[in-house]
Amino acid sequence: TRHLVLVLGDQLDAEAAAFDGFDPAQDRVWMAEVAEESTHVASSKPRTALFLAAMRHFAAELEARGRPLDYRRLDEPGNRGTLAAELADAIARHAPQALVMTAPGDARVLAALRATAAAQGLALDVREDRHFFGSVRDFAAHAKGRKQLRMEYFYREMRRRHGVLMEGPDGADPAGGQWNYDAENREGFGRDGPPAHPPPPAFAPDAVTAEVLALVAGRFAGHPGQLDDFAWPVTRAQALQALAAFVEQRLPDFGRWQDAIWPQEPWLWHSQLAAALNLKLLNPREVVAAAEAAWRAGRVPLPAAEGFIRQILGWREYVRGIYWTRMPGYASLNALGAHAPLPDFYWHGATPMACLADAIGQTLRHGYAHHIQRLMVTGLYALLLGVEPQAVHAWYLAVYVDAVEWVELPNTLGMSQAADGGLMASKPYIASGKYIERMSGGSLCARCRFRPAERVGERACPFTTLYWDFLMRHEARLAANPRTVMQVRNLARLPDDERRRIAERAAAIRGGALETPPAG
Ligand code: FAD
Repeated sequence: TRHLVLVLGDQLDAEAAAFDGFDPAQDRVWMAEVAEESTHVASSKPRTALFLAAMRHFAAELEARGRPLDYRRLDEPGNRGTLAAELADAIARHAPQALVMTAPGDARVLAALRATAAAQGLALDVREDRHFFGSVRDFAAHAKGRKQLRMEYFYREMRRRHGVLMEGPDGADPAGGQWNYDAENREGFGRDGPPAHPPPPAFAPDAVTAEVLALVAGRFAGHPGQLDDFAWPVTRAQALQALAAFVEQRLPDFGRWQDAIWPQEPWLWHSQLAAALNLKLLNPREVVAAAEAAWRAGRVPLPAAEGFIRQILGWREYVRGIYWTRMPGYASLNALGAHAPLPDFYWHGATPMACLADAIGQTLRHGYAHHIQRLMVTGLYALLLGVEPQAVHAWYLAVYVDAVEWVELPNTLGMSQAADGGLMASKPYIASGKYIERMSGGSLCARCRFRPAERVGERACPFTTLYWDFLMRHEARLAANPRTVMQVRNLARLPDDERRRIAERAAAIRGGALETPPAG
């Protein structure tokens, strides 16, 4: 064998750089399902199932394209359980002259594969990941010499460079004259709740996926999450169908309802495309182009198209740049010195707090929650409680079907836990229970025993108690930040006695006063 071409579970793109110059007469693809990728964090059943189902479908596609493939199944006797050990075996079988791969999405995996290649005395050719609009080098050039990074400036540069939503004689002006339409987006639902809307297409498991579901249910029985409702796209054809349905049915109202929450409504107007993108079943260029074309054809208002495109051309590329320019040190940052353990209910969802029970319940059922649930419900609670960011990171990486470390880590550790000292976000995203009440039109709080407006006492919303406690614990730091100084100023109005009662109630919550064991 000339080249052994390594393809990982999040690299399911037949056009990836690793295949450049592929010669079926001399080269061979290697893919392996290994337990370690599901156990280094306790990967949820839906997440593991999605990766394995998509890998097996992709393997069939490679074979149909006539690319010789060495594919190792999880349940094959003698599976050695780690990528490194399986690769060493494959090298012994095929005696390749060199190893080739597209840059992976996880620094741990890259290090392990490099070490294996070095131990075998083989060159490992790690090729640029063309999936993304920009390279990590482009991001580093953007970041160089800036005192503070801001997503907004990065995003404008991306819009210009890639000619997305631009108009005017030289294509130099943002469409509609503004870069950002957030002021027209982000409504709450109000008391009546969400208007009628079609759910995303559901892809019933075929025989290949059904076999994977049975395997995962047996092999990872103790892992979080459920498989009964598994309906994610597992092939490129299905992912394209999901994209088309989203653009037609939900994109027109995407911006408007982007930040809204409603109980028992996991999907709303979100795209549910992150997993297909991160597994590389979809290319971000085709997703952005579809949204822009729908706006140009008059089918989608500009604020909706812009709000959606910003998430992909802006945030998604930005967090990737942060990850690869800051790793490996980034993973251990803990700027707020938070050391509390993650409450157990994150793994089973049994908590008297209605918003958390709802967000965690759907997370375990589908491996999905939308951005505001991740940031302002599960993330906010962990931040206010003072949970160690690395424990929060392990949870997010485990539970979501779209979780791959390059995108999950900066979002969790940086944006949601403010643990990177202000690199990702210029201020901690903190709020009291009243924010959740507003964004859910009161619906979540109406079915909860806690009151978002109350700071102390048994009925006080724990988010609200912990919010004030957070302000007190981090008063000096927040007062020094122009973006949070107003929030801290409200502390001055609290009498000492109230401050003491807040701190006591917060300590009781931290001590487990709210924990209820899971039913059954
Ligand atoms: P939509 O709301 O429809 O957004 C469209 C697309 O934009 C998404 O599919 C995604 O590709 C991209 N996008 C949106 N927001 C972000 C963002 N902040 N960073 C990067 N891309 C973004 N996203 C992941 O893909 N994987 C993760 O593991 C992940 N972990 C997160 C953890 C936390 C604590 C937070 C706050 C956010 C996380 N996100 C993650 C970002 C975002 O919440 C998800 O991309 C989004 O909820 C996925 O649902 P969707 O496809 O319906 O997205």
